[in-house]
Amino acid sequence: MTTTENMIDQYRNALDSLSAEEILTWSRETFGNDTVFASSMGLEDQVLADMISRLGLDIEIFTLDTGRLFNDTYHLIEATEKRYGNNVKIYFPDSSAVEEMVNEKGVNLFYNGVEERERCCSIRKREPLRRALAPYSSWICGLRQEQSPTRENLRVIAWDDGNRMSKINPLFNWTEKDVRDYIRKYDVPYNKLHDEGYPSIGCACCTRAVKPEEDIRSGRWWWESPEQKECGLHVVDGKLVRENIS
Ligand code: SF4
Repeated sequence: MTTTENMIDQYRNALDSLSAEEILTWSRETFGNDTVFASSMGLEDQVLADMISRLGLDIEIFTLDTGRLFNDTYHLIEATEKRYGNNVKIYFPDSSAVEEMVNEKGVNLFYNGVEERERCCSIRKREPLRRALAPYSSWICGLRQEQSPTRENLRVIAWDDGNRMSKINPLFNWTEKDVRDYIRKYDVPYNKLHDEGYPSIGCACCTRAVKPEEDIRSGRWWWESPEQKECGLHVVDGKLVRENIS
């Protein structure tokens, strides 16, 4: 089904009071094969993967392999596929674009400044993400409102203007405790780095452990100021939100 920006408010009214499971079911019923789940293999994504499996929903799952992931993340992809008996489709960056970038600027160019970090994120994440989303009219994400200052206004469904499709956030109002409780209750496979001080896990070279009192996003791109950190910011409902999976 094709949706339009004008239909988002109507959908939001219907979804605001539903549970995450009901939102996922609604997504499948409303968009059919035109909806896809974009997983970064984080805790929230694992909750959604488990829900999709438990509910028997036929929703495609994909993730991005930037080429710089932690080994633990590859183990988790494998464990997730085994547990749920499905295929997590993996998208890679364009090899010639990566070759040109690293030969011109070095393998660790992202430490040189925001511009070069953005270039790397663009090539390794945003372009593959756009390619992955192209066949669909809506996508499902594991974003939560409390994860970052730039996510405060995250809504259950929003118009993703950059990709010209709707974006559904079934866990938009979940707390970290809700996520942890769910993982424990259903014994969901997750990245063990989360138990070693990594609240948010992306590329190995751009992620570090944080202390308990630090902001949960402070382990990502720690050499940049907080407002520069979101990878692929774009405008939804007049507000800045993250475009891509972590
Ligand atoms: Fe590149 Fe770091 Fe962005 Fe990964 S997180 S795509 S390594 S800049």
